[in-house]
This record gives sequence, structure tokens and C-alpha cells, in this order.
Amino acid sequence: MSKKSDLSNISFFKNVEKYFDKASAYLSYDKGLLDQIKACNSVYQMRFPVVVEDKKSGKKSVEVIEAYRVQHSQHNVPCKGGIRYSMDVNQDEVMALASLMTYKCAIVDVPFGGAKGGIKINKKLYSDDTIERITRRYTTELIKKNFIGPGIDVPAPDYGTGEREMSWIVDTYLAFHPGEINGYGCVTGKPISNGGVHGRREATGRGVYFGTREAVNIAEDMKKIGLTPGIAGKRISVQGLGNVGYYSAKFFVEAGAILVGVAEIDCAVLNPKGLDLEDLMKWKADKGSLLTYPKGKVVKKPGAALEVDCDILIPAALESQITEENAPRIKAKIIAEGANGPCTPGAEDILLKKNVLIIPDMYLNAGGVTVSYFEWLNILSHVRFGRMDKRFTENTNKMFVNQIETLTGKSVSAREKSILLEGADEEDLVNSGLEDTMINSYHNIRNTWLENKKIKDMRTAAFVVAIDKVASSYTTLGIWP
Ligand code: GLU
Repeated sequence: MSKKSDLSNISFFKNVEKYFDKASAYLSYDKGLLDQIKACNSVYQMRFPVVVEDKKSGKKSVEVIEAYRVQHSQHNVPCKGGIRYSMDVNQDEVMALASLMTYKCAIVDVPFGGAKGGIKINKKLYSDDTIERITRRYTTELIKKNFIGPGIDVPAPDYGTGEREMSWIVDTYLAFHPGEINGYGCVTGKPISNGGVHGRREATGRGVYFGTREAVNIAEDMKKIGLTPGIAGKRISVQGLGNVGYYSAKFFVEAGAILVGVAEIDCAVLNPKGLDLEDLMKWKADKGSLLTYPKGKVVKKPGAALEVDCDILIPAALESQITEENAPRIKAKIIAEGANGPCTPGAEDILLKKNVLIIPDMYLNAGGVTVSYFEWLNILSHVRFGRMDKRFTENTNKMFVNQIETLTGKSVSAREKSILLEGADEEDLVNSGLEDTMINSYHNIRNTWLENKKIKDMRTAAFVVAIDKVASSYTTLGIWP
């Protein structure tokens, strides 16, 4: 993927504002209300010293760490959004990502305001102890300013962070809030053993799959872009094999798609006949890179995977990867935005002229925050999903099956019986809630698009849906006349 420094002249936040303004032209809200929705409410920029240990030499020194937490909107609380660890973190980026969280939550009916955090570090340089120290210190900075809490602001994983970091955050938070009964709700994306839910890890990728599947299953929409309906047989290319990229690719491949390209930070691997995802992951884990991968064409320019001949391109890394420079060379018919902000507005104009369907980030990657919401609800309810009704459902199903057997005089096989009887457990319920959310939200956006003939693209339709929902919260709450 291209280095962000090459694109430092692009303001990500301004790009989001451009998309917002384009969509608000289709709505008739007060300018003041729209300005309020668009603005970032609270921006917390911090600097703190941490003793860091060089991973290779073990040498210790003190470094001043630059970090942020932005609460874009408190029209609903808590605020919600991940924390990223990357050298590209800056205030503009965190503001843009926080604002996208507000619109994302609105689209999937998650009753939170948008937020985002970021720490400007290169994790590869530090020992695990150092990353733990930085994470815990960042959490105490958030606590000091009341920027974290189950009813205030609830972080989650993002680029460069995962379950481990979320565990350190909750542990630090609880140390400062002994006895707070909902304390585990101060962060989501935690390990199962520490208050997480089954299905959260895979949720963003699963959501990317469900959302794209919904689009691809509508024959008349596919006809417009020259594709047949259905995921099976579609050629996909994925940028980034982190949590989002890996799980997206996995669910597509399981549904019969062919993985023809992948991009990592240092190279792309291409194979028109199809790549074996698990084999790629194993190679990456063993060797630390795909540069020497033997079962495909390795190209030192990671952008090659964006430009490869495929049906569905899934950018699942960082923002501003598809720009006016490379957009003319993109061959995919669908861009499924797993990442936040992967296409710049200039690139989008070029792609739309080429009749490409862009399924926008703030809808398509909302699976993560949707399941974060379920995790948060689970903590607040203090009872595991499925605990109360699993056995009841199984007993009721058993009675139905017995009745069917009695009435028909035929018996159901043991295998079928076990499927028919089984009640839903936590993972089934989480995945079902996610699937339902992605399907309903897709049709909500599509209907808005169909109803307003002047809207030319799905991102604008998604923004219209989001702005409308946030605006109506302001008006119904009596905040706006
Ligand atoms: N970082 C993810 C996102 O950008 C998840 C946020 C969350 O679960 O709060 O949507």
C-alpha cells in the first residue's frame, strides 16, 4: 500500500466533509444543524512520557508519546470507536475517523456517538512490555479527563490494536474504578476470557461479506455493472491481511469466491487461478512477509493488487489508498470498502464515471461496531446471550420433532435431529444480529438511493441516511428546535 506521507497534502477530515456536504444538499435541514453534526465536539490531544525499550537492543530511554482521542458527536452516549497504533496517526486522521464512526453508528442503528483514538507509534520497534506501558498510560490519560467509561466513551480495536490492548485498557480502567458494576463495558473487542463476546473478532470481515453478498445478490443492480448475481466464482483482491482483510477474504472464499490478489505493506501477490488464503497466512506468520511467497507472482509494488483484473476489490488497510493517480487503472466492478476512507473524493469521481459500484465504508465495515454494541449490551445485562433460552428452545423443538414423527410415522435421522433441536448460543445470536443488521441497513440505503433519482452513488445515499438519523436525534431530543 502506498505510504501515507506521499499523500500528506490530502486532509482526510476535509474529504469526509466533502462527502457530507454533497449528501446534505439532498436534505432540507438548517445549515446550523448540519454544521453541528459535521463538527468534532471534543478533541483531546495528549503528550506523555513513557520509558520505552528497543525491541532489538533492549536499550531503555524515555520518549514523549503523541496520542489523541476525538469525540465527534455526543448526540448519543457513550461515544464509540477504535484506537489505532500507527506512525501515520495525526489529529486530522483521528477527527475524520471519529466523524465516520458517528455516521456508521447511525446507519446500523447502534445508539452511540462517534469517536476515535490514535497513538503515534511504530509498534514493531518496541518490546511488548513497552506497548503495554504505553497502552496503560494512554488509558490513565483518558481516565484523568473523563474520556473513557461505559456511559462516556468506549474504545475498541482498530489498525494496530487487538484483544490484548483492550485487555490492558479494561484492567487499567477497573483499577481506577473499583466496584463499578458495568466497568467491563468501558471497552469492547476484549478477549472472551475477559468480557468479550464470541464473533467480535470476525465481525468486521463477516459484515463486509454480508454487505457485499447483499449487493451482489440483486440481479438488476449487477446487470447495470455487467456482473452476474452471487458471490460464488467472483474474483476478489484484498488489500491488507490484518483482522478485517483476513476475515473478509475468508468468508468470501468460503462462499466460493476466488482470491486472485492480496497486498501487504511491502508487496502484492497475484494469481489469476486463485491463492490459498490459509497458506498465505502461514507463510506470512513464518517468514514475516510474503515477499518470497512461491505460489503466485510477487510484485514489489503493493498497489498492483488494487489494479489487478478482478470483480470485487476489498481495500482493508488504511485510508486514501485509491486516489486520482491509480483510480483510472482499477479494473474491479465493485469496491467493497473494508477500510475507513480508502477512496479519496477525486478517485471516487473517476470510478463512478467508470460505472464502478462503491459499497461505502461507513456501511460496509460497520460489522465491528455492531458486534461491539452487542458486547457492551452483554456486559450491561450481566448474562451471557442464550443462557436463559437455549435449553427452552431445545425442549420446545424436541416436542415439535416428536409430534412430527408421531403424525407422519417416519423418524428424523439423528444428524438432522441434532440440527433441528439445537437452540441458539452466544455466537449464533451475535452472528444472526449482525446478518440482520447488515441486510436491513443495505436495503435502507438502497431504497433511499432509488427514491431519490438525483443521487448518483451509494456513499451519498448512505450519508443521506446517516445525516437524517443524526439530525432527527437532535430534533427529537429537543436540542434543536
Ligand atoms: N475500529 C472499528 C471501526 O472503525 C470498530 C469500532 C468499535 O467497535 O467501536 O469501525
